[in-house]
Amino acid sequence: MSSIPIFFMSAFKMPFWVIKEIDKLRRNFLWGRSTGSTTGIPLLAWDRVCLPKHLGGMGVLNLKILNTSLLLKWLWRLFVLPNSQWSTLTRSMFASRVLTSPLSWTARGSFFWKDLLTLRNIFSILTRFDLGSGRETLFWFSNWGNGFLNFFDCKPLPSKPHLTVQKVCQSLSSSLQAPWNRDVHSAILHLSSFTPSDTRDTCSWKCNSSGNFTVKSAYSTLVSAGKIEFQATLIWSTKLPPSIRLFIFLLFQDRILTQEALVKRNIEVQPGCSLCDSTSLETATHIFCLCPYTQELWNRMSSLFPSFVFLGHTDLRQLILDAVGSVPINGVNHKAIVSLTVLWAIWLERNNRIFRGAARSTEALLHWITSQQSLFLKHC
Ligand SMILES: [Zn+2]
Repeated sequence: MSSIPIFFMSAFKMPFWVIKEIDKLRRNFLWGRSTGSTTGIPLLAWDRVCLPKHLGGMGVLNLKILNTSLLLKWLWRLFVLPNSQWSTLTRSMFASRVLTSPLSWTARGSFFWKDLLTLRNIFSILTRFDLGSGRETLFWFSNWGNGFLNFFDCKPLPSKPHLTVQKVCQSLSSSLQAPWNRDVHSAILHLSSFTPSDTRDTCSWKCNSSGNFTVKSAYSTLVSAGKIEFQATLIWSTKLPPSIRLFIFLLFQDRILTQEALVKRNIEVQPGCSLCDSTSLETATHIFCLCPYTQELWNRMSSLFPSFVFLGHTDLRQLILDAVGSVPINGVNHKAIVSLTVLWAIWLERNNRIFRGAARSTEALLHWITSQQSLFLKHC
């Protein structure tokens, strides 16, 4: 569903309301909601769903960021292929000056051109100018040297926004006398050791090692900005069916609908654990670690797999981290497959008891788990 608007987004800035509508369709599809239905409670905030897996998301494309990344490609072409037919035509139509930086270009023109200009700030942050003659680099706005200056958000703008590095170099001694603030003074001082050459200034892309723009690197940089690495990325590489991996991912983030989670969503519940006789409010830690039924199951698993330590965990997240982080043998992480299948089976058993009234003993469940595990291992 995400791929449908990509062609459009490669050339235009998609209106906010269109992105919102597409996201609504994708969200309903993901959580099994049909139009007008109240079933299918979203288990994770949409912003979170759209983060990459290594940042704790589900890797669903963030359309706004994808749109920006696709459009940045055009700005990049204007810089690195200034003599291509498209660049020449675009410049002659819209760019009022010869300068390389899009900051100096007029905001008048087609919708396409205006959309590109809204990305100037982002483009400047993600690129770096290496000085040749200094003629194409704007002193105040281009990201040159060690990124001394960035006056994009400064209001009012400097009185000479189109001042180039070359111009500053030409009047270096008088510039140094001016009462600048410390950052500006450092930038000018830096130029005193710079010798302009006859070559063009070059623009390089900061988001990958090659220095060349790619939509993928733009997307990855923009979507990751300010986010924290997710601890349990290995969940996604475990050789288990996608539905189990998704369940474990949600379980790790405490996003499954236990009684405790339902109460937090203001849904009334009758407290009690369906696996044991407890009448306390059901929590994930109880179901998967502390419940006597579960402990008996883990106990039986320990007899079957003596080399794996299952018992003693009261921290569910740590249990999952230990499982996915254990050392694979011949590329297969047996402990993860075994442990995560048990967690999944406990949840199925809990749901079967609540919704179908069907209960199995720990022995019967263990038998079923081992048959599933051998099935999964066979496909590794
Ligand atoms: Zn219980």
